[in-house]
Amino acid sequence: MQDNTLLETLKWKKFPVLDHGFVCLVDVMGSDTAVVQAARVSYGEGTRKTSDDRTLLRYLMRHRHTTPFEMAEVKLLVRVPMDTWRQWIRHRTASVNEYSTRYSLAIDAVYATESDAWRRQATANRQGSEGMIGTECGSRLTEREKAFHEQARSLYEERIGSGVAREQARKDLPLSTYTEAYWKVDLHNLLRFLALRMEPNAQFEIVRYATTIGQEIVRPIFPLVWEAFLDYQLKSMRLSRLEQDVLSRLARSGRIPADEEQFLEAQDESWRTLERCRERDECREKLIRLGILAVRSESNGG
Ligand SMILES: Cc1cc2nc3c(=O)[nH]c(=O)nc-3n(C[C@H](O)[C@H](O)[C@H](O)COP(=O)(O)OP(=O)(O)OC[C@H]3O[C@@H](n4cnc5c(N)ncnc54)[C@H](O)[C@@H]3O)c2cc1C
Repeated sequence: MQDNTLLETLKWKKFPVLDHGFVCLVDVMGSDTAVVQAARVSYGEGTRKTSDDRTLLRYLMRHRHTTPFEMAEVKLLVRVPMDTWRQWIRHRTASVNEYSTRYSLAIDAVYATESDAWRRQATANRQGSEGMIGTECGSRLTEREKAFHEQARSLYEERIGSGVAREQARKDLPLSTYTEAYWKVDLHNLLRFLALRMEPNAQFEIVRYATTIGQEIVRPIFPLVWEAFLDYQLKSMRLSRLEQDVLSRLARSGRIPADEEQFLEAQDESWRTLERCRERDECREKLIRLGILAVRSESNGG
């Protein structure tokens, strides 16, 4: 059953993201129950006796029986900087209507960066960032950014004022300009989006959007699905064959050595096979998460 009071509270509420962005629930079809109901069609009446809704949902998520999750849908209105939207729109399994800057004036809002928010390029992960640029340099960059945003907007407005078509006047607007879109997606593909975009390797900005959608919208409307999603997707860990070898050798050795890296290097063929590469770094991160290796300073993604 859908809790109508909850939906009325959530619908059209703008959850702020970044400086001028938001996500807003427009409509929803289905609930935890809709997923369970669809699954029971395929598993038959028997499941009613042997498993309650929560157990069944957790089973479906654990075993990647995904189609029942397609029975629920969520429609959002989002306001998002264009560069973040460019990553978002790569998720093709959604229906989209975007604000048209051919038809209307471009939204007069840009995503600005505070002086302490400039991230440093990561060395290990070429796509990511790690640590921050100092505020002295950051203040200068923020000042330059502000001047640039003002100049870009003023050029755009000058073109519009001179009668240039909106479709052409917009061509030099920065990617930090906000756009708006309706985004409708089924729950299965929404969870897929969240799993990829709430992950530390995703870019900070899209992580903020995905986390807000997950926490503020999906969690209250689909509490059992959300719980299973955290347990079996977002906070779960996949182990490759080589990683399993490393772990079982460590377990068989019966001790956590003082210098784990040296121990692994000497003893573990799989560890050596992984060599010095992203795969080995990822294996190390997993061992750290499991409390087997000591924490070292690592890239914090981006
Ligand atoms: C951290 C990160 C870094 C990324 N870096 C890059 C990058 O550098 N360059 C880049 O181009 N992209 C990049 N991407 C985007 C990525 O490659 C995917 O396009 C994006 O994550 C959408 O995932 P998806 O295709 O699974 O989702 P969706 O498009 O929603 O598709 C969901 C699933 O539907 C199926 N599907 C959808 N369309 C088709 C189709 N046409 N044919 C067959 N099956 C289909 C597939 O099973 C797919 O997994 C990055 C994504 C992340 C999370």
